Amino acid sequence: MRRAGCLLLALAMAALLGGCAPEEHAETIFAMDTVMTLQAWGPEAEDALVRAAQRINELDRTLSVVNEDSDVWAVNHSGGPVTVSEDTGALVALGLELWEETGGALNIAMYPVVRAWGFTTGEYRVVPEEERAALLARTDLGQLDYDPDSRTVTTPAGMELDLGSLGKGYAADQVTELLREAGVTSAILNLGGNVQTLGGQTDGSPWRIGVQDPQDLSAYLAVVEVTDGAVVTSGGYQRYFEEDGQVYWHIMDPSTGAPADSGLLSATIVGPSGARCDGLSTAAFVLGVEGTADLWRAAGDFEFLLVDEDGTIWISAGLEDRSALAAGYEDRRVEVVRP
Ligand code: ADP
Ligand code: MG
Repeated sequence: MRRAGCLLLALAMAALLGGCAPEEHAETIFAMDTVMTLQAWGPEAEDALVRAAQRINELDRTLSVVNEDSDVWAVNHSGGPVTVSEDTGALVALGLELWEETGGALNIAMYPVVRAWGFTTGEYRVVPEEERAALLARTDLGQLDYDPDSRTVTTPAGMELDLGSLGKGYAADQVTELLREAGVTSAILNLGGNVQTLGGQTDGSPWRIGVQDPQDLSAYLAVVEVTDGAVVTSGGYQRYFEEDGQVYWHIMDPSTGAPADSGLLSATIVGPSGARCDGLSTAAFVLGVEGTADLWRAAGDFEFLLVDEDGTIWISAGLEDRSALAAGYEDRRVEVVRP
């Protein structure tokens, strides 16, 4: 009698423990020109992830620079005021804000420049200086007018927008919110290098996000801990071409009209908002160590991890206790940037 009772108790415990581990659900989609994986735990996750995938596809259609039905296409082919969706409006507003904050390093009007270098067509070429100057004349965001009340975008002749530096981060924010509202408490999204987390892992511990080694894409050089936040990396290794031994990548320096040449191989930004981290990671890649450190001191709402051409890792002080070098990278030089 007693032994049977014990056995029953043990079975009940096992069932309870088994029942405690929430079920994992996952979706993989191709959108915004990249592979995206969405993982979420718990009974609410399954339906919510289907809706999340639909939401990302909707954003892809609205924000795409090549889809003829998109808001961005309408703005770029209008020649007059265009009323845009809430999503596009939010990103234009954020783009303008980050343009000011980063001293122009983040510029959502770089499309003519990016296209001239061949990054939209695959017909790569080194754009000569004179042509670059003419293209840059079309990127002055000071001439863009955005009215948030009517959500109207008015661009000067020749200006073309490209929200590609913000779109994946914004999509991650939107999906995180959708999952949260559905009752999901633990999720991790990887939208082509933009990682975003909802809550912590199911056992309550923080997520541990690997930061890719820009010199060996099969390896992670560091791990960053986050709960409820984004980890976004911009790097020259994501899209590039080579000519005469020189590498040219897809992130442009708006002051030169040529690929950014700040001495960085990659820039990772950690913070609460995916869209903001996305914009800041692109800007950090343009600005380099000193410029990014200045931005960080002024803003105070994000952290960074930068890898320079010598392989040195520069981290902001707030990451000191939240990051670690990965196995095999223990000897790597790390510089901590302080306020
Ligand atoms: P990825 O999309 O590869 O993850 P980013 O978020 O850094 O990388 O965005 C890079 C994209 O943004 C480029 O492909 C280009 O379309 C556009 N872009 C290039 N340079 C800039 C810049 N200085 N500011 C804003 N957008 C840029
Ligand atoms: Mg970006």
